[in-house]
Amino acid sequence: MTGSRFARQMALPAIGREGQRRLGESSALIVGCGALGSHTAEALARAGIGRLILVDRDLVAETNLHRVALFTPPDLGRPKAEAAAEALHRLAPDVAIASHVAHLGPKLAEEVVPQVDVVLDGLDNLETRYLINDACVKHRVPWVYTAVLATHGMTMPIVPEQGPCLRCLFPDLPPPGTIPTCAEAGILGPVPAALAAWQATTAIQILVGSADLAPGRLVHLDLWAGRAETISVARAAGCPCCGERRFGFLP
Ligand SMILES: [Zn+2]
Repeated sequence: MTGSRFARQMALPAIGREGQRRLGESSALIVGCGALGSHTAEALARAGIGRLILVDRDLVAETNLHRVALFTPPDLGRPKAEAAAEALHRLAPDVAIASHVAHLGPKLAEEVVPQVDVVLDGLDNLETRYLINDACVKHRVPWVYTAVLATHGMTMPIVPEQGPCLRCLFPDLPPPGTIPTCAEAGILGPVPAALAAWQATTAIQILVGSADLAPGRLVHLDLWAGRAETISVARAAGCPCCGERRFGFLP
């Protein structure tokens, strides 16, 4: 790590030399390497995180190019996790990056979640988020829930035993087809970039051990309407996951 690369970041009292050292010794798992995941990965790689694990089973498609930070037309048809890892290596060669071209199922979640200090959300489906929530609460790893659709998105830090989990917020998985996807409702290019910036900032707070981190603070941003709202989510009494420690999405 060279001092000059991170000088502007270390000048922040909330980070400083000690925060930068902690970042360099930290690791993050990024599940999904679309717009949300790739912008988040880029922010953390540039911030000087030590190690990233990327998971995505999809290939780069032409419909991704209007919003995904790391991909260019020559990447079309390549696995997203591999193309993202290469691009990240070019911009931050000191970061150790592992990529898995795979769907995050229960077995892989049990393998990779305990290896990291924070898990970040680059997903487009709730079912895998419930799996991440189970694995993170079980292994006491913080994660950041983040979702985008159309012109808006929301994000919330989930810190096991310090605040609510995803199932305190959404107790049950909604029936398939009841939540619209970005393919159906569309997605404005800058929206995932904005939510990824928020998510990456939360991850940095978690990794440097900031007292400003607010577990359970849900932020909803609508970029088109120019509106931001903050809601405090409480732990739900009798939550099957963080209350009763029943992990139904794991094997
Ligand atoms: Zn809970």
